Amino acid sequence: MKVRAVVFDLGKVLVDFDYGIAARTLARQSDASPEEIRTLIDQSPLLFRYESARITTRQFFAEVRDQIRFKGGFEEFAAAFGDIFTEIPAMSELNTTFRQQGLPTFILSNTNEIAVGHIRRSFPFFRHFTDYIFSYEHGVLKPQDRIYEITEQRSGASGQEIVFLDDKPENIEAAARRGWRTICHRSPNATRMALRQWIN
Ligand SMILES: [Mg+2]
Repeated sequence: MKVRAVVFDLGKVLVDFDYGIAARTLARQSDASPEEIRTLIDQSPLLFRYESARITTRQFFAEVRDQIRFKGGFEEFAAAFGDIFTEIPAMSELNTTFRQQGLPTFILSNTNEIAVGHIRRSFPFFRHFTDYIFSYEHGVLKPQDRIYEITEQRSGASGQEIVFLDDKPENIEAAARRGWRTICHRSPNATRMALRQWIN
């Protein structure tokens, strides 16, 4: 069966990220240490509430501000919280190749409004996808089934028609249960090699 959609995870696949950078910047204007701040914002219960739209961007800011006694305003907070990403050029080039072949590509990400705003402004490669499925816009996180269903609806593809790249085994397993072709991303080279069996 022909591949009709390539679905990329964002974090650690198309961009690297380091919450330590935000924690150090925020610590300069707060009473908490970088380590304490990182524990609060990096893959934390609070971040998952934010990325699954249980709380808004403003509520997320207010919770962090109150817990670390941040002295700055929202704009300073958002600039620091968002500026944690670096592009992985080998992977954005892969997307360019697929698009040149006429293959639709998608980003399926557990993410938040501040991160997406920052990435959109900072990285031109981000514009060159067919469509985007973000957890905070749908109130549901990978590996919950619903966000994979939404991806199938938006792409018009399903099962073996979809190739999915993600660095987290639990996200890959949920996609594999739906019959998607999956690659647990470790490095651009390993992913390129694995893709050769399906797309040339
Ligand atoms: Mg990831």
